[in-house]
Amino acid sequence: MKTFKLPSFPEICVNFHLTNRCPFRCRYCHSTFLEESPVSAHQWIEIFSKINQETEHIQFRKLTLSGGEPLLVKNMELILESAKDAGWQTGIISCGLNLSEEVIRTRLKDADSIGVSVDSLDQNVNRLIGRSTLTGETVDYVGVCKLIKKLGKKLKINTVVHSLNWDQDLKPLLHSLKPDRVKFLQCRTDVDLRDRDFSGAVREDEYQKFVENQFYPEAVVESEILQSGSYIMLDPEGHLFDTVEGKRRKSPSLLGISFTEGMEYIYYDHQKFQARAGNYFSSLK
Ligand code: SF4
Repeated sequence: MKTFKLPSFPEICVNFHLTNRCPFRCRYCHSTFLEESPVSAHQWIEIFSKINQETEHIQFRKLTLSGGEPLLVKNMELILESAKDAGWQTGIISCGLNLSEEVIRTRLKDADSIGVSVDSLDQNVNRLIGRSTLTGETVDYVGVCKLIKKLGKKLKINTVVHSLNWDQDLKPLLHSLKPDRVKFLQCRTDVDLRDRDFSGAVREDEYQKFVENQFYPEAVVESEILQSGSYIMLDPEGHLFDTVEGKRRKSPSLLGISFTEGMEYIYYDHQKFQARAGNYFSSLK
């Protein structure tokens, strides 16, 4: 177990998983958090202020809001506003369904980057994965991503590579829009999935095939091993957590303890974070 050495970090990225709610039902989804006492937006700001104070000496800092779907959380824009005011880089990861021009201009005005989870451009495959609403609605990813760029936001694409999409072709999106950040994440099978009967496991050769087929060398290839322990994450109840041992290990809520104290409860490896180029935002203009 590594202990947390806050002062030695040149950069830090903190991820708030605001909710486990989402309009989609991806079979491999890992957002299976308990949400019995969800932290409100104002309480998130309280937690953020604490983290901000304790990390003042760190030059590059980024806050990412995700979920579930962060846009479902009332007043989430106030959290982005606080982080922006404090000089942090800000971003969200969304399923893309509600990313209209109005939402980007208003609720996401303080987000530097907007990340969209894209597993396939084939809507039949997306429905098979569960990347659709209960009524079968899907996202026009190329249209949404064009809109994000048109409105001057950094575009990030996260693709989880699993047994249902390893043969998919994302080149039409990646090569025409050239996102600012692309991640190909190997589907983790060592943590709780939404659909417990689903084997999302992708073989190593299939994962590599997917990566090669995209012809996108700028993409960060995040194996299961690289993902494990390389994120600083808070769940919807405000606990820091990790999943390195297959199930969530949690700190007490950061509403009650300091960030530094909370980090002592979880495993975090900053070298792994750097190995997956998690510090990319320090060079973004
Ligand atoms: S879009 Fe993301 S949060 Fe929503 S169900 Fe799929 S994996 Fe889970």
